[in-house]
Amino acid sequence: MQIQSNIKKIHDDIRAAAQKSGQDASRVTLIAVSKRKPPEMIQEAIDAGHRDFGENYIQEAMEKIDLLGRKSATWHFIGHLQSNKAKFAVKYFDLIHTVDTVKLAQEINRQAQKIGKIQKILLQVNISREATKSGAQESEIVNIAKQTCRFDNLHVSGLMCMPPFFDDPEDTRIYFKRLKQISKEIERLNLPNTTMTHLSMGMSNDFTVAVEEGATLVRVGTAIFGARQ
Ligand SMILES: *Cc1c(COP(=O)(O)O)cnc(C)c1O
Repeated sequence: MQIQSNIKKIHDDIRAAAQKSGQDASRVTLIAVSKRKPPEMIQEAIDAGHRDFGENYIQEAMEKIDLLGRKSATWHFIGHLQSNKAKFAVKYFDLIHTVDTVKLAQEINRQAQKIGKIQKILLQVNISREATKSGAQESEIVNIAKQTCRFDNLHVSGLMCMPPFFDDPEDTRIYFKRLKQISKEIERLNLPNTTMTHLSMGMSNDFTVAVEEGATLVRVGTAIFGARQ
């Protein structure tokens, strides 16, 4: 019950934020981030009609997805991905949000080719230039896009970012604006196998600001499933 009403409230907030800023709310997908939450909670959300889920850890995700069924939902990989786990990410996930090197893209492409899949990916940008964060630097991202577009078993569907946490979500706005600008730059290149359909940005604390700035995929965990251990 709680999960269902939390999801409903977030949809309401998304609609309000879209309306306020002239965005199209129907273009925004809510991804329920279920990392470190039990499969029963995911099932509860599925039963309430929710479709999109985000997971961060391959091993944990595979166990849950095997239990719930791959077809029961749309699965998003949003954690840091090591090349040696690319095989599993390709097998289990509809969209991989966190590709930040050509080497990783190449390995995903190789694994997708093996099973005859066109794997959808997003390029992750380290938008706040934090030394400890994953994501490609802004200065490299266009060059990475120019290389990933050569991989025929990949479709690059947009960009993803994860700005620092701020108590005031307004402080994240500049980063969301910047990601949108970068996606427009890449769009202008008209690269093959590449469309800037998606901006994956915004979490529990700041998703309304992200929607105002054009997010199409918001990744919300705590506000749906409660605090994590
Ligand atoms: C955990 C996580 C989220 C969800 O964070 P909340 O603050 O719980 O909404 C979103 N995106 C990524 C990449 C995450 O790792």
